[in-house]
Amino acid sequence: MPEFHFSGRALSCAFSPHTARSAPSFADEHEAAFSAASFFGSTQAQEAVALSLVIKTAEHKAFSQYLRHGTPPLLPLALQQQREDFFHKTLALQQQEALVAKIIEAAARSDTFLQRAALKHREAFDTVLQRTLGTRAPVLVDEPYLEGTLLRYQARYLRRLQALVADINPPSGTKTLLFKAAADPLLSTQTQTLRELEQILDRQRQQAAGIQEYIWRTEGDDKVRPSHAENDGKTCSWDDPPDTGHPGSEANCRCHAEPVIEEESIAAPVVEEASSADTVEAGINVATFLITLIPQARAAATAVRLAQNAERSLLAVRRVAVALGERGAPLLRRVTETLRGLRRVRQQQEDIFKRPEGVPEDWIRVPAKKGDGVKYVDPSSDGQTYVRISRGNPNASQQGQQNDYIRWQVNGKQLDKNGDVVLGKSEESHIPLEDFKFKGILK
Ligand SMILES: [Zn+2]
Repeated sequence: MPEFHFSGRALSCAFSPHTARSAPSFADEHEAAFSAASFFGSTQAQEAVALSLVIKTAEHKAFSQYLRHGTPPLLPLALQQQREDFFHKTLALQQQEALVAKIIEAAARSDTFLQRAALKHREAFDTVLQRTLGTRAPVLVDEPYLEGTLLRYQARYLRRLQALVADINPPSGTKTLLFKAAADPLLSTQTQTLRELEQILDRQRQQAAGIQEYIWRTEGDDKVRPSHAENDGKTCSWDDPPDTGHPGSEANCRCHAEPVIEEESIAAPVVEEASSADTVEAGINVATFLITLIPQARAAATAVRLAQNAERSLLAVRRVAVALGERGAPLLRRVTETLRGLRRVRQQQEDIFKRPEGVPEDWIRVPAKKGDGVKYVDPSSDGQTYVRISRGNPNASQQGQQNDYIRWQVNGKQLDKNGDVVLGKSEESHIPLEDFKFKGILK
């Protein structure tokens, strides 16, 4: 039996086929739980979790019954199968939800994620160059192209994250999905994007440092495509790419360009332009996608990070659009429009958390512990009197938590919208945000 781990002599006899036949109650409880499950449809992870609790309760009851009366907790085989399928589905749904939240969080941190990678690449590049040239001065001074490169790769990264989310929803709840989740598609997306960023930075930075040639290096395993294996170890020129293109030009290429650094071969730097329409376009795409994710963010902190990231991208590309002059005018208009949209979405987010009317000004505003809202706390109450505003989660099992709601506590006691004491877990203790009226300080 997978669900109970018994030990001891007294229990072992309970599993004999004789007594197994006389276990109607336990099976009945399960059947009731399962019909409840199918009644709800179990399309949402939260529901599934709630229903798994129903089943657990049924099991618990059956188990205590077993302890009292010696009725063994054996399930008919079909019911066992049903139970297993149900838990697989529940687990898959929970994993999906967690994965989506993780991907949105990754999107919110996408700019710093790539910036950090670019910085590490630069440090490694400087070290190699300085060691070879015997200098301590930085070889690369100005990198006007960097911001644009980062934005273009951020746009690419976000497109991939978007595809990941689309792939996860709608939930299918199959075992395959469990395996897929275990393979961590987010990690492989990140690895791929970082590698591509490094490949482009290799070229831009080497050329900007006046390096003209590189040695083609493969990963040296059996996954290297034959045409690239042929390039391995060859000296190539940045000016004149081989037939395959430079490393990274072909999809999923893991090859890299090792710089040929000799003082006599260092030429005039080839530095790419900072201002390009592509960059502005990428920046607008980045911001637009981040803005669409804001309402989906489960944690308020993530929503804020998404908004901040979007704003940074827009401010960066506004400079580029301005530098483009006449050519950048239509793009500049789109940047301005997107900024306006962002401020609206941000305002909506902030409005949810504004101090409800009547809540005294000296009550302290703090982020809620779970990171999904704010709390206004009476400073004289030792944290026992507060009004907490939480963002709704459309997937929540309790209806009262699906839209934005308030929890109102006085001296440790939960109140409903009329200011009457109610049970902490009751439906009435989740007051819809629009129904809340603060009724003075009740002591
Ligand atoms: Zn390759």
